[in-house]
Order: sequence, then structure tokens, then C-alpha cells
Amino acid sequence: AGAAAAPPPRQSKLEPREELRVEVPPDASLRVRLVAGTAEIFGTELPPEGWVSIPPRSKIAIFSWHGATLELDGPTESEYPSVETPMVIYVNTHAILDARRARARAAAAQGGDLEASQGPRVIVVGPTDSGKSTLCRMLLSWAAKLGWKPTYVDLDIGQGSITIPGCISATPIEKPIDIVDGIPLEMPLVYFYGHPTPSINPDVYKVFMKELAKTLERQFSGNAESRAAGMVINTMGWVEGLGYELLLNAIETFKANVVLVLGQEKLWKMLKDAVQSKPNIDVVKLQKSEGVVLRNSKYRQKTRSFRIKEYFYGIANDLAPHSNIVNFSDVSVYRIGGGHQAPRSALPIGAEPVADPTRLVAVNISTDMIHTVLAISYAKEPDEIISSNVAGFIHVTDVDIQRKKLTYIAPCPGDLPSRLLIASSLTWYEA
Ligand code: ADP
Repeated sequence: AGAAAAPPPRQSKLEPREELRVEVPPDASLRVRLVAGTAEIFGTELPPEGWVSIPPRSKIAIFSWHGATLELDGPTESEYPSVETPMVIYVNTHAILDARRARARAAAAQGGDLEASQGPRVIVVGPTDSGKSTLCRMLLSWAAKLGWKPTYVDLDIGQGSITIPGCISATPIEKPIDIVDGIPLEMPLVYFYGHPTPSINPDVYKVFMKELAKTLERQFSGNAESRAAGMVINTMGWVEGLGYELLLNAIETFKANVVLVLGQEKLWKMLKDAVQSKPNIDVVKLQKSEGVVLRNSKYRQKTRSFRIKEYFYGIANDLAPHSNIVNFSDVSVYRIGGGHQAPRSALPIGAEPVADPTRLVAVNISTDMIHTVLAISYAKEPDEIISSNVAGFIHVTDVDIQRKKLTYIAPCPGDLPSRLLIASSLTWYEA
């Protein structure tokens, strides 16, 4: 059967503080145009003229503060307006953060200490599908619109809004986030954990958080502007047990001073009690939007795979990755942690086997690696891998054991910038 006929272009009117919630189908994009008034998508204003192409699978809200007329062209899976949004609460939160940034900047100008010149470090927490990434995006775009350059930190290894899943990363946001292209990728700082869930090796997840925090701290100390703008930190939706512990760890590691809790009273209360001894952390409960679309684990698994594909092929499938071949001897692949510890029988009597979760294990290249993602480390020596960020990723397309050759695709042509590679459990299968 052919595709259903697309509906004709249509107009849609938004009252002040109303939003149109739209789901774009997986196989088509939707064009949106502002006809009159003003409107924004997750904090970024629609341009006054011209069509904007919303990519397939997007779930968005087009919100207007003062009223707008829109034109839509293309199919949607759902499309409905709502006046019940938490946007006023969100923008008020932004205003409070903005005042804190201004205070930090003023303190810096008067030669204030590091504490006084530090802008808000906001961490957004809540269960999956509470709208965390979306709120981060709005807070960042609103701040950038006012000229701030806040740092976005993404700790959500399950989805990954900066780069591929499995990473802990950060990037400065210098202008409102592009509606189509998303987070800018010019200079992200990326640490590669390599799995979509922290439970595989929580200690390594913590080590990478620490490394990232340390690097950001160093950058902030030399840059009053980004120090005053502060950070917005996105987290995982896992808020119980180990997930909760890691949240507390993140708050501490990044010295967060504003915790925004989305849509869960219990989590808010727990966090509030947990940090009450620290006077300068505000734990704030925020309403979640009813517009946030629930995604089941299968859907999330799919989006993960799409994120990996996007890295190589571009959001609009407009990039052509480069295929390349290396000899096994030209690269060294390592896995972090999970190595076999020495068996008890091999240890001196009385010694306990110590499992070092951050231990580096050299792995032999095998056909098991086909379809997996490898990260290219900036480390110069293997023992620096655990404290180094990564330059990018390759996707293994073939392994020829006999000829000892590995075939991969990369987004850029040319030789690998480093021979040290990190193995992962992230896969993507070319459809
Ligand atoms: P979380 O980060 O908590 O898992 P997200 O912010 O990623 O949740 O939101 C889940 C999905 O819902 C995303 O696809 C997002 O674009 C969509 N979404 C968020 N807010 C709205 C809204 N008001 N209307 C429509 N879709 C929304």
C-alpha cells in the first residue's frame, strides 16, 4: 500500500499562552511557518519568515506567549492544542536563574571570590518522560537569548542529547538551540562510558562524572563569563536505588546549587532531606507538562539506535560517512572495567581478589565487534584512557580475522586521530 495522502497545508491559531502539541510520523517531516504573532519551540523562537522543517519522529510543542497564527504542511500522528502548560512556572524559574547570573557577573566585576562569581548550577531530575531534556533545552535557550553562554551537561547515557548514547558530555550553548539541528556540536567535551545504563559499571560512570566536572571547573576558573552563566545539567530517568545514589553523586560532583525536580513529590522530598545540611542548595519541585510524550523501552531503544545513525548520517540523512580499513596492528582496543580478576587460586594465601572497576583491559579484535561503536580516545597512553575525553566514534562494519583487517565508517575522511580505541556495548544495525 502507498503512503496515505498528506493533508493539505492548514492554519492553526494559538491564543496567548497556548501550545500546539504535534507528533511527526517516522517517515515524513512536517513544515511549520509563522504567519502572524510570535511562537517558540522549546525556548527557541520560530523565525518570522520561512518554513521550518521539523524532522521525522519529533514530538514538539509550538508555544505562544502572546498569540500566533501558524501554517502547517505535512502529515502528523497527532496534533492538538492545550492551554494547560507549566510554561509560566518554567519561565519564572528562568527569571530567578537569570537574576543569579547577573549577581554572579556583578560579583566577578568587583573582584569577588570564586563562590560569589559562580552562576547557578542547575540540575534537572525526575523519572523518565517527565520532560527533563525539554526543560533543560528551554532554560538554555532562554538564557542564550539574553546573551548568556551557559554550559549544558548531559549525564543521560540512555538517550544522549549532545552526542550518541553512552556518553557523559558537556558543551557551551551560545545561542538558542536550533529547532532542527539541536545542540551545537562544535566543541563538546565527551567522555565515553559505552553502555546505555549505569548499572553495568557505576564506578566508571562516577569516575567520568568526576573527570568532566574537573575539566569544567578548570574552564570556569579561567572564564568569568561562562562561570557566571553556570550550568544546566540533564540526568537519567532512573531515580530509585542505584539511580538515586548516582543523582546524589551528580549533585555533589558538579556542585549543583539548584535542583529542579520534575513531577515526583517523593523524589523531591527525598532529595530535600538528603541535602538539608547543605544550606546553599535549593531543591525545587516543578510541575511536569501533560504534553510530554511517554516512550516505552522499545521506543527508547529505537531512538538510541537512531541517535547513533544520526551521528554518521546526519539528522536529515544528509551526510555520507566515510568507509575505511585499518590493520589490527594499527589500533589498540580497550575495554574499561569488567576484566577478569585473578582467580583466588592464583593469589598469595590470604589475599582477597580486588576488582578494580576502572581497570583497563586490552581486547582482541573479533567478529563480535561488528555493528558496535568504538570511541577514539584523546589519550596518548593506554593508562590515560580513563581520564581522557574522546574525539569521536567509529562504527565497525566488518572484521576480517584472516587478513587482520577492520572496516569501519567514520563521519570524516582520513586517518584516525588516535590509535587508542574504546570498546562498547552500543550497537547499530544498518537497516
Ligand atoms: P525526559 O528527558 O524526562 O525523558 P523529554 O524532555 O525527552 O523527557 O520528553 C519526552 C518527549 O516528549 C520528547 O520527545 C519531547 O520532545 C516531548 N515533549 C516534551 N514536552 C512536550 C510538550 N509540551 N508537547 C509535546 N511534546 C513534548
